[in-house]
Amino acid sequence: MTQIRPRGAVAPLRRPAATARRATVDAVVASLRPEEPVHCLRPHAVSDAARAFMAAFPGDVLYAVKCNAEPTMLRAIAAGGVAHFDCASEAEVRLVRSLFPEAAIHFMHPVKSRGAIRAAWSQHGVRDFVLDTDAELTKILQETGDGDDLGLVVRLALPKGNAAYDLSGKFGAAPAEAAALLRAARPHAARLGLSFHVGSQCMDPSAWTRALALAAQVIAASGVAVEVVDVGGGFPVAYPGSEPPPLAAFMDAIRDGAALLPQGVRLWAEPGRALVAGGASVVVQVQQRRGDALYVNDGVYGALSDAGAPGFRFPHRLVRPDAEAAEVTRTFTLFGPTCDSADVMRGPWTLPADVAEGDWIEIGQLGAYGTALRTAFNGFDRAHVTEVSDSPMLTTAGYEAVAARAA
Ligand SMILES: *Cc1c(COP(=O)(O)O)cnc(C)c1O
Repeated sequence: MTQIRPRGAVAPLRRPAATARRATVDAVVASLRPEEPVHCLRPHAVSDAARAFMAAFPGDVLYAVKCNAEPTMLRAIAAGGVAHFDCASEAEVRLVRSLFPEAAIHFMHPVKSRGAIRAAWSQHGVRDFVLDTDAELTKILQETGDGDDLGLVVRLALPKGNAAYDLSGKFGAAPAEAAALLRAARPHAARLGLSFHVGSQCMDPSAWTRALALAAQVIAASGVAVEVVDVGGGFPVAYPGSEPPPLAAFMDAIRDGAALLPQGVRLWAEPGRALVAGGASVVVQVQQRRGDALYVNDGVYGALSDAGAPGFRFPHRLVRPDAEAAEVTRTFTLFGPTCDSADVMRGPWTLPADVAEGDWIEIGQLGAYGTALRTAFNGFDRAHVTEVSDSPMLTTAGYEAVAARAA
């Protein structure tokens, strides 16, 4: 099928001419001396995180594709044992199906185009669809012909919680509405589910217990049987100065909440960030220094969106292959390459005091919402991609045990 690539679409990450896998980020910098940002992927870390999450979670694990849709990352997730994918668009569905003919794909966006529903159902074998309104239920039934083996999942809105990003402001039915939607969907559903999303980078395990308690109330109020409860994503990872409770604390909280559900309900989870965050560093180059301001070749319109206005902090270090760096450090602000004055990452970024034009900086934990949020704004979308086999700059408690066993 011909793919129309709109003008200005972001350029795919390019492989350097010599594509041999290098062991470390330092080796990548020493041999490529890259003048464009380089995304250094660690598929082994992604597979390890996927294995750890699969081992810990008492149900089916769906990877939230939006978080990082690079084929290398998707293959690493599958290699870690994940066979279910949470997609939100027809393009994501098509990509996952092209890589994994056997995967179970779940269409988890509550507002879909009719064409996307039709294509997912009839061309790509998608059977599960999420909804949070009567209008969407009608649309799904019309476009799938109310088919056999249709799975319907009602998205429940949650009260505002402790996540870095609240995701109930936009989607989700209030509890009474959700109960009514479960009743309306029941006669059409081979599988009926209830889902929620506590929000991204949610540091509080009890958010899942509270959400599951609400889900249990909604199911009771609906008066119908439900086969699946989907606890969403939002599982946090470590960033500098922000160490989440270990993975086991989240699983305990989920088990506590799930005990309130009717017997036999199957659990699903949709982790994104937790599986891929450690799986990529981005190497940027300093193009100019002005006092404590460093102008670098990637920014908020590239892989560093979350380091801009959302103010996430990322692990970082200087990479200077040919010379020693000063032992004294100081703090810097990074400016991205576009002409927008909002293209600034305040950090603070602590680096050797003598950092200078031409130096490189490795920025870690960018596997989640780094690559995925790049744009072509101002023409700065020429990043390269390569693979390394060193360890992520930070590990998140609970994900390293399996990693250590695999090492
Ligand atoms: C974004 C999203 C996820 C993944 O969230 P993470 O915070 O990356 O784990 C899961 N489910 C839904 C519905 C989402 O919108």
